[in-house]
Amino acid sequence: MTSPASPPVPPLADLLAGARVVSLPLATRFRGVEHREAALIEGPLGWAEFSPFLEYADDEAATWLAAAIDFAWHAQPEAVRTEIPVNATLPAVPVERVGEVLARYDGCRTVKVKVAERAQTLADDVARVRAVRELLGPEGRVRIDANGGWNVDEAEHAAHALAEFDLEYLEQPCATVAELAELRTRLRRWDLPIAADESVRKAQDPLAVARAGAADLVVVKAQPLGGVRRALEIVAATGLPAVVSSALDTSVGLSQGAALAAALPDLPFDCGLGTASLLAADVVADPLVPRGGAIPAGRVIPDPALLDAHAAPPERRAAWLERIARCHALLSGTA
Ligand SMILES: [Mg+2]
Repeated sequence: MTSPASPPVPPLADLLAGARVVSLPLATRFRGVEHREAALIEGPLGWAEFSPFLEYADDEAATWLAAAIDFAWHAQPEAVRTEIPVNATLPAVPVERVGEVLARYDGCRTVKVKVAERAQTLADDVARVRAVRELLGPEGRVRIDANGGWNVDEAEHAAHALAEFDLEYLEQPCATVAELAELRTRLRRWDLPIAADESVRKAQDPLAVARAGAADLVVVKAQPLGGVRRALEIVAATGLPAVVSSALDTSVGLSQGAALAAALPDLPFDCGLGTASLLAADVVADPLVPRGGAIPAGRVIPDPALLDAHAAPPERRAAWLERIARCHALLSGTA
């Protein structure tokens, strides 16, 4: 990702002055973790989240910090809607737990099912998707997300094995743009769309996937793309329909995603912004969990008591503040 050249970067002391670091318990193990750590930063216009996953290097994490600065320090693009329809996100849980996890999402007509999890088989994926389809009925929408876990042959085989469940689209079935393009050619005959996620947000060139004709739609996230404005620019440049998603954010990060979804001219798909339902605790008194299948757009304010109750241990707080300082140096060109 190119380093965001956007507006001036505020002094580090201003970022650290109001920074809080939290560790939130998850209701369901996800991405191999049971707690989600996040730094929350207060700027002149409100609160923003900085929560790149722990394994991300500073050059990638710096783009997430640019997003937080943009949200907390700068006015956001105008919203064209106030309610964001969201999907339920189902981690790669055993089939017996599908009902219990989906019960956490009120009114969601669309479910994104995680598949291709390491140590699981295609039979596990088929069983999980079947259970979702049975629970949703014929009118529900089911999409799957493989996080790039298949090669082209595996993805084609999986698409056939899952065909009876009438999938809405396949998200990042393979890792590379070339593989996505090849798979898209193979699947075109039966009209199963391919969504690019990692190929947009983790790529050096987020537009390469569109240029290669490797996807039918793009998944965009406010934090990894450097903010709402930058994500809007990328969507416009791809010329493809977009789904807004998140990264197991707190409700503060979800409010950044909601601002992006609210500002997109077209929003043809339900957005992956219902993941507050995967958290067992949040930082705001009224978390952005789906109600009637939607979350509201608008800024949120953390509850001081919840920030205290879920404060990360001192050594983790120190590690996050150091990470902010390193990313700040990268953004301000002083690294
Ligand atoms: Mg994804």
